[in-house]
Amino acid sequence: MKFDVAIVGAGPAGLFAAKEIAEKSRLKTLVIDMGREVEDRACPASNYKSCLKCSPCSIMCGVGGAGTLSSGLLNLRPDIGGDLSSILKNEKASWDLVRYVDEIFLKNGAPEKVYDPGHDEAEDLERKAASVGVRFIPIRQRHIGTDNAPLVIDNIKKSLDTCGVEFLLLKRVSSIDKGVVTLDDGSKIESKYILAAPGRSGANWLAEEARRLRIPMKYQPIDIGVRVEVPAVVMDPVIKISRDPKFHIYPDTYDDFVRTFCVNSRGFVVQEVYDDFIGVNGHAMTHKTSENTNFAFLVRVELTEPLEDTTAYGRRIAMMTTTLGGGKPLLQRLGELKRGRRSTWDRINRGNVKPTLLNVTPGDVTMGLPHRIVTDLVEGLDKLDSIIPGVSTASTLIYAPEVKFSANLICTNDDLESPLENVFMAGDGAGLSRGLVTAAATGIIAARGILKKEGVEE
Ligand SMILES: Cc1cc2nc3c(=O)[nH]c(=O)nc-3n(C[C@H](O)[C@H](O)[C@H](O)COP(=O)(O)OP(=O)(O)OC[C@H]3O[C@@H](n4cnc5c(N)ncnc54)[C@H](O)[C@@H]3O)c2cc1C
Repeated sequence: MKFDVAIVGAGPAGLFAAKEIAEKSRLKTLVIDMGREVEDRACPASNYKSCLKCSPCSIMCGVGGAGTLSSGLLNLRPDIGGDLSSILKNEKASWDLVRYVDEIFLKNGAPEKVYDPGHDEAEDLERKAASVGVRFIPIRQRHIGTDNAPLVIDNIKKSLDTCGVEFLLLKRVSSIDKGVVTLDDGSKIESKYILAAPGRSGANWLAEEARRLRIPMKYQPIDIGVRVEVPAVVMDPVIKISRDPKFHIYPDTYDDFVRTFCVNSRGFVVQEVYDDFIGVNGHAMTHKTSENTNFAFLVRVELTEPLEDTTAYGRRIAMMTTTLGGGKPLLQRLGELKRGRRSTWDRINRGNVKPTLLNVTPGDVTMGLPHRIVTDLVEGLDKLDSIIPGVSTASTLIYAPEVKFSANLICTNDDLESPLENVFMAGDGAGLSRGLVTAAATGIIAARGILKKEGVEE
């Protein structure tokens, strides 16, 4: 098989790259993914139980990548989920690219409604946060919803089919070299350009490939923490101002960076399955709601010497927590965490917050997470409680571990071309993004880099 462009990964980065190339050129493009078509991607286990048995994991892999079964919350800012300005070196161009990505989602069925923090209300919240030394970041957001996201992704896929983009699914790429992609079954695909966009599920593989190909990489900071679940009414006043409110906190004892992330109003906590541990995440649907709101509460961890490998550190912590949970995430009430007692189902059932994820083990989160991280989280929640009363009560539910790995940053030029000529990088797997909009945007930047080499200017 011979192509002009072979894209590894059909996540937002790969799909938006393919779209840009197909709409602006006649280059013959192939998208390869180890996962399935959108309609075949439902996780066979309700609430994502026992999906360790699925390989590849349906939640992370297939057309649309990790975006298809996500909440589909689009953060319409270039500095959330990555930093597009640092890639484009132009503030206006990065905002324009966010708008461009958003328009594509919109044209393919994302809801019209945008959550735009009203100026006065956002300012009041900013002031309230600032009074306890916390920063509130107002963001315009569009919420596709878990139930709508597969439809939107399917529309994008169909538009690519119409443009003649070819897809090779249920095929794992084992290696990339200049001009050749090799699949697990040994077959080879020749392609002038290769774009590696394998997302988080392929980040380790891409790092190994980069090492083999002597492409330089940098370790990046990671975020380690928990998923917090509270009654929805507690968060509602803030949710009215911002759909996914982002607070940046520096707790007193360690002065580490702690933040709220991925707030799911009236949503559900879900398992996130990795090769060697089971973490947690959250999602919200437009047609099915719970009585709770959940959010990730994360501590930024950056290491220097002798250990720079933040991923190795984060994995060890997550594995320890999973071991303590007997192969499941841990669940603890905040009151028990503060008093140094493990939670039991009996104690959890006495609380006023009913967990939305039941495939967990009630236990003691402080046995799994380092003291410094627990201190940051507890102090951070107490600060947050002064802005959102009721967030830090004895009944607040804490699920662990939630770890946001940042893939190693693969070194590229401004067009996202690696030092290996005609091999481009995009998305979460190359450490260039951490969200749907930014992943899609980096796919477009790489696609434009390829088009530029072909003499097709914007
Ligand atoms: C449960 C969950 C909820 C999320 N919610 C949100 C949200 O609301 N808002 C938001 O902005 N972000 C969210 N995210 C993050 C977002 O989904 C990712 O940032 C985004 O999908 C990254 O896009 P990507 O194209 O870089 O990679 P991915 O979407 O991960 O896609 C990569 C694709 O590459 C394929 N692949 C990997 N390795 C290989 C290989 N060797 N051979 C062939 N194929 C390969 C995989 O099968 C996968 O389909 C969520 C993530 C998860 C897991």
